[in-house]
Amino acid sequence: MAMRFQIWCLVARHAAAVLVFGVSAAPLLVASASAQGEVNIYSYREPQLIDPLLKGFTELTGIRTNVVYASAGLNERLAAEGQNSPADLLFTVDAGRLSEAKEAGLTQAVDLVSLQQTIPSQYRDPGNHWFGLTMRSRIVYASKERVKQDNITYEELADPKWKGKICIRSGQHVYNTSLTATLIAHKGEAFTEQWLKGLKANLAHKPAGGDREQARDIYSGKCDLAVGNTYYMALMATNEKNPEQKRWGAAIKPLFPNASDRGSHVNISGMALAKNAPNKANALKLMEYLASEQAQKIYATTNNEYPVNPAVEPSDIVKSWGQLKPDALPLENIAKFRKKASELVDKVNFDAGPSS
Ligand code: FE
Repeated sequence: MAMRFQIWCLVARHAAAVLVFGVSAAPLLVASASAQGEVNIYSYREPQLIDPLLKGFTELTGIRTNVVYASAGLNERLAAEGQNSPADLLFTVDAGRLSEAKEAGLTQAVDLVSLQQTIPSQYRDPGNHWFGLTMRSRIVYASKERVKQDNITYEELADPKWKGKICIRSGQHVYNTSLTATLIAHKGEAFTEQWLKGLKANLAHKPAGGDREQARDIYSGKCDLAVGNTYYMALMATNEKNPEQKRWGAAIKPLFPNASDRGSHVNISGMALAKNAPNKANALKLMEYLASEQAQKIYATTNNEYPVNPAVEPSDIVKSWGQLKPDALPLENIAKFRKKASELVDKVNFDAGPSS
């Protein structure tokens, strides 16, 4: 990825951090980084998901938090800042970015027994450089009205019986390259290339929009199946401020792919300790807090993700979908094949749509 920083906003929480907007590789939080009692976070996660957790942490510990939010470029920014980086923690919505940060030498190992005890080994780096906090499954949204079957496999999405019936966001989006990477890991590269070709041929139109827009297109009858993350189903169904999205959510049912064999693809949102974390002790406290039952309950109810801590139950709506059987493939395997997945998506010209 190019050195491109799409900064949504820089939020200084309860702190006198320097506020800077725009395109810059310069450290933004230097003014407060060395002060006591705070922790600096670079986050790919959106503010509304993070804020309730950080508020809970500050109330509990008195430690203030400063967050740089961005949709892209944070790994590159950490690399550019090097030893001068004010960042203590990196939050991401995908295991791939965490593993890329580790490989680029931007993180450090964390030897905290509490994290190893609360986070199952499948959802953390074997070298303890990164840790999952929540799980989300990439499932199939199916039209309640037009799709009779209650189970499906990812492989079946390439079956010509679905010609013109499937909607999906860009094949290059990290959610989809991660899913494609699992196909490579399980079935090999040649199979996955054919699978992508078959899925592309079944699309109703060119890949576009986010996961919610695919549900919209099922609602409006443009397609019968779509690929999307679990939590969007809950976010749409419970969106009291947006009746339109509520209708999209009501039009679909979740199908958990491969539930009767290897299980459904699960990815994580997670965290890593930055290599040069200036406030390491505070950062470790925040890491422990985020894996705790208290914080995991906030994750479960705020964003309807699956808590990674097995002691905490998912929200009621998530439980109403039935048991999730996660694909047991270690997440580092997904990271390993993501580049190849992205190359195959380009090779079959996936994003050009069905008639290309
Ligand atoms: Fe998302």
